[in-house]
Amino acid sequence: MDIKPNLIGITAPELAQSLADMGVPAAQVKMRRRQIWSWLYAHGVEDIEAMHTINKDLRATLADHYRLEPLKVAEEQMSDDGTIKWLFQLDDGFRVETVYIPEPSRGTLCISAQVGCTLNCRFCHTGTQKLVRNLTTAEIVAQVVTARHILKDWSRHNIEGASAGANINRHISNVVCMGMGEPLYNAENMAKGLNIISDGDGLALSRRRITLSTAGVVPEIKPMGEKTGVMLAISLHAVNDDLRNELVPINKKYPLAELLAACKQWPNLSNAKRITFEYVMLDGINDSDAEARQLVRLLASIPAKINLIPFNPWAGSPYECAPPERVKAFADIVNKAGYASPVRRPRGRDIMAACGQLRTADVKKSAAEKRREATPAPAGARA
Ligand code: SF4
Repeated sequence: MDIKPNLIGITAPELAQSLADMGVPAAQVKMRRRQIWSWLYAHGVEDIEAMHTINKDLRATLADHYRLEPLKVAEEQMSDDGTIKWLFQLDDGFRVETVYIPEPSRGTLCISAQVGCTLNCRFCHTGTQKLVRNLTTAEIVAQVVTARHILKDWSRHNIEGASAGANINRHISNVVCMGMGEPLYNAENMAKGLNIISDGDGLALSRRRITLSTAGVVPEIKPMGEKTGVMLAISLHAVNDDLRNELVPINKKYPLAELLAACKQWPNLSNAKRITFEYVMLDGINDSDAEARQLVRLLASIPAKINLIPFNPWAGSPYECAPPERVKAFADIVNKAGYASPVRRPRGRDIMAACGQLRTADVKKSAAEKRREATPAPAGARA
């Protein structure tokens, strides 16, 4: 496909080099790079022509080399609880999911790392999809930029006079890499993307408000912490190797002992920077009192938060959600061990919110249906 690269997702050094290659005098490269960065990520312009502090000739040269394009929305679903799920279309036609979860004190954007996934975690709907490819750095960053466009999340901090990137009254205050795919199987692009998202002169999401979740790609855990300084979550779901081998098959390659040892290597691990351990509650599978006690023992030497997730069943899933009284009994044991509010409130259950469901439904659509959707509605018609 012969299209210009997207300005979104180019790293700061790459952009500076590109400006130098375009003939921008060396003494101006730094300033121009910062101006463009600010237009892209603090002001959220959607057109190179709108970067009006940059002279016309340079804007034209930039436009000769790059496009500035957010992702296309192939589908949007909104839950009664305000959760929004988008299926974003990529340049090659593949689609990924991104979810926005509003809460009174914050707004979290859950982004994807891959189209599909190789890991086949048995409780996960995305695990039923084949891996198609890794997302590029541009596609990782563009999920945040596009969501901010849709939510009109740029002007608010400008209107309120906050400095570029200040975390004031934003719709999107947190980013979690818990969407489709395993981020640590796309580590290089993910690290670049997270460093762009957290750059203080642009999107400026605090590294403490960005959480990368992994099923346990052990060799990549410490390097990712060193490269990004973000928070870590582990998709744990079982407290012994036999069960984890079944639920999270990457455990056969990197068993629990190795995974927990790698967690202890996460840079700056402390009570102020704890690792989140996610544990999906599956009826009769991993929800006993004994497993709750084992979970507490297992994590005793790691500064940790525990996140119990009521399972969100999908058609054909081999599991059911643990009943509420079982979740409560399990949570009580975890609570007594000093882990506060361990149960995550289910969100967006009315909109196929289990990761990957929307994309699967989309993939199953016939070509004719997709053609119909792509045909513009007659003027005046409303959906
Ligand atoms: S839980 Fe994550 S790593 Fe596992 S199959 Fe689903 S998307 Fe892949």
